[in-house]
Amino acid sequence: MSFSSLGLSEAITSVVTELGYSAPTPIQKQAIPVVLSGKNLIAAAQTGTGKTASFVLPLLEQLEQLKDSHNNKHKLRGKRIRALILTPTRELAVQVEASIAKYSKNLKLTSMAMYGGVDSAPQKQALIWGVDVLVATPGRLLDLAHQRALHFDELTTLVLDEADRMLDMGFIDDINKIIERLPKQRQNLLFSATISPDVRALAKRTIDNAVEISIAHNHASKPKIEQWLVTVDKSNKSALLSHLITEQQWQQALIFIETKHGAAKLVSQLDKRGINAESLHGGRTQAVREQILADFKAGKITMLVATGIAARGLDIDDLARVVNYDLPAQADEYIHRIGRTGRAGASGEAISLVSKDNFRELCAIESRLGHIISRKEFDAFPVKKTVPVSILNYLPKNKSAPKK
Ligand code: AMP
Repeated sequence: MSFSSLGLSEAITSVVTELGYSAPTPIQKQAIPVVLSGKNLIAAAQTGTGKTASFVLPLLEQLEQLKDSHNNKHKLRGKRIRALILTPTRELAVQVEASIAKYSKNLKLTSMAMYGGVDSAPQKQALIWGVDVLVATPGRLLDLAHQRALHFDELTTLVLDEADRMLDMGFIDDINKIIERLPKQRQNLLFSATISPDVRALAKRTIDNAVEISIAHNHASKPKIEQWLVTVDKSNKSALLSHLITEQQWQQALIFIETKHGAAKLVSQLDKRGINAESLHGGRTQAVREQILADFKAGKITMLVATGIAARGLDIDDLARVVNYDLPAQADEYIHRIGRTGRAGASGEAISLVSKDNFRELCAIESRLGHIISRKEFDAFPVKKTVPVSILNYLPKNKSAPKK
């Protein structure tokens, strides 16, 4: 079966051929005709099955046809969007938008990724002329909708991508509020690795008469990130980290720390215990940072201690583990950090060292994940100041960074 037999036109099929896709994957075979027919869709499919292209390709086809049918006169008005793709994380938003840009290179369609944790001014600016396909995380989207930076009256399609993860991460209220603002007449597509009871309830409330398809799990390509934490007294943190590196024979780790000063101190503490590490922080010049990153990617540096900001843009496909030497102040940042491992189908681990004064951050992170992170204990490091078990429905009262 070919992509053109599914109803996609040359402008799109030529791109997938160039990309080396010889045939549609099972989810693409089933989903593309349904999406093109304008029906609602609920699909159980995981990352790695080709699910992104299964909704992006027909969506682009529809938008292109819409343009043609109006002889290109149907111009998008300012601050308007035609399709909205909601994703749980900034990483996924960026990734989906990159796919859209790739698949639409022969089309005159615009797309954009929008997410929180960064200045919103450039995003507002980019919305001024309207965007055909907007990929967004729920919080930032709602924020900008409240500020009237965008309007939904020309929207024709809503895609909920990785719906189960969005619900796990506590986005249900935001999603409901967004849906309330959308035109009633629209096409709805929901993709989820699993159709849990919560996903089913969301689908029932928001999606009528959907075609349902389910694709067998593809374990080989599913990113697998094992998360665990060790509680530790603050004064023992560097000794515990050295112990883990040595005992568990870590070949590589990206170690996140809060401050530049802390990074330098940890590198020297590791050095005293015979472990070679390098630090990456905002105090180093751009050239030095780039060299360190290149050396880390090439495996010349094995232990890299980095502040969150300095590690932005660090993209390594087969990073085995990330370590939160300090927990980030924001739960989103935790999710972003752990997403740097377990890429491209490889397995990865995310380890956090948690002392009692991190309890507040831990509660926020575990509430965001919707589950408790499993704890490991090491006999050589008994804990004097116990870290209590989190309260999972914890909501931070004060959103500014907690005191250290
Ligand atoms: P996804 O499940 O959407 O995350 O896609 C996983 C990977 O499969 C991406 O890197 C796509 O570029 C690739 N891909 C998608 N469709 C096909 C196809 N029909 N043939 C080969 N690779 C594909």
